[in-house]
Amino acid sequence: MSQNKVPILDLKPQYQAIQTEIKAAVNRVLESGQFILGEEVGNFESAAAAYLGSKHAIGVNSGTDALMIALRALGVEPGDEVITTPFSFFATAESISNVGAKPIFVDIDAASFNLNPEQIRDQITDKTKAILPVHLFGNPAAMAQILDIAEAHNLKVLEDCAQSFGSAYKGDCIGCDGGCQDDVRNSITGQRTGAIGDAGAFSFFPTKNLGAYGDGGLITTNDDAVAELARKLRIHGTLKRYHNEMLGYNSRLDAIQAAILGVKLPYVDKWNQQRRQVADTYNRLLENVPGIVTPAVTAGHVFHQYTLRILNGKRDAVKEYLASQGIGAMVYYPVPQDCLPVYQGQFPTYPVSEQVAKEVLSLPMWPELEEAIQERIVATLKDAIAL
Ligand SMILES: *Cc1c(COP(=O)(O)O)cnc(C)c1O
Repeated sequence: MSQNKVPILDLKPQYQAIQTEIKAAVNRVLESGQFILGEEVGNFESAAAAYLGSKHAIGVNSGTDALMIALRALGVEPGDEVITTPFSFFATAESISNVGAKPIFVDIDAASFNLNPEQIRDQITDKTKAILPVHLFGNPAAMAQILDIAEAHNLKVLEDCAQSFGSAYKGDCIGCDGGCQDDVRNSITGQRTGAIGDAGAFSFFPTKNLGAYGDGGLITTNDDAVAELARKLRIHGTLKRYHNEMLGYNSRLDAIQAAILGVKLPYVDKWNQQRRQVADTYNRLLENVPGIVTPAVTAGHVFHQYTLRILNGKRDAVKEYLASQGIGAMVYYPVPQDCLPVYQGQFPTYPVSEQVAKEVLSLPMWPELEEAIQERIVATLKDAIAL
């Protein structure tokens, strides 16, 4: 193979563009001697809250901890049920199980890869406490419908925004190209994900749309009481030393990561716009290719992943061929959460989710990905499909 390898994600161009600012920010923290919480974290929390349009933002150790702490802060307790999607990274269901509640899965909509709101009502019982939609691959879930259901049944809504930092939700676009957004209730038009439900959980894992250089996470909420509880839970269940009121966690955002995130935050809209551009280009290059389904560039989609469906049972062969030509494509996710060994035999089947898990293929995606490389990826993909 003579050509260079194309990875699924290349973080280097972004770092090269901002390295002077990053190094200055890291140095500032090193010289301050303050490494946990403190002013850097407070400043980033304020900037993130303002950007996201949320009253409160609370920095924590990871996206997983953000989910777990937010669930507890919203009042989810052992024995409660939380409705979520089977088609996500395991941290989503794991956090529900880890707080002692039970995940209740609802199948997805194949066009958006997100929770199908039409199927939520049937799963609500007297134990249901919350709905946990995931804005998968950066595509906002059907929040208008989810909020309506939550309101009618007195449920909390926690958004898993690990893949959707910066996504501006413009309305439910299930199976359409975004043109339906005008029908949506004005009150939620254009809100950022994470500021729509009762709370949001974000991850700053390095590969996410806003990534740190290590682990990090954030909880958003407009509710003062939820925010205060989350602030206590992240630091051993108290805001006052030797006054621990409950069992909490050691889950704080590092000052170094907060300073790095503070440098990156002003760029995130530009990077997300570039991701949408890359997705547009893929869609244009892949127009009229048989045997695949391309993702719609819906309103607010920030393309954490660009994910195709490869039909006719060819997905694995296509992935293998791409790999043989030096192109890194990945399967997110090969196994729905309910089918993982940890939950073996506990859930019925969710047919759309299981079908999609056999068809999905994510192509290389990062903001600076050049069109010439996309052309090579698509040419190789076409060869693979024709094999
Ligand atoms: C990355 C991710 C998480 C977990 O975030 P971490 O920071 O890795 O703990 C949770 N949910 C989804 C959908 C994710 O993609």
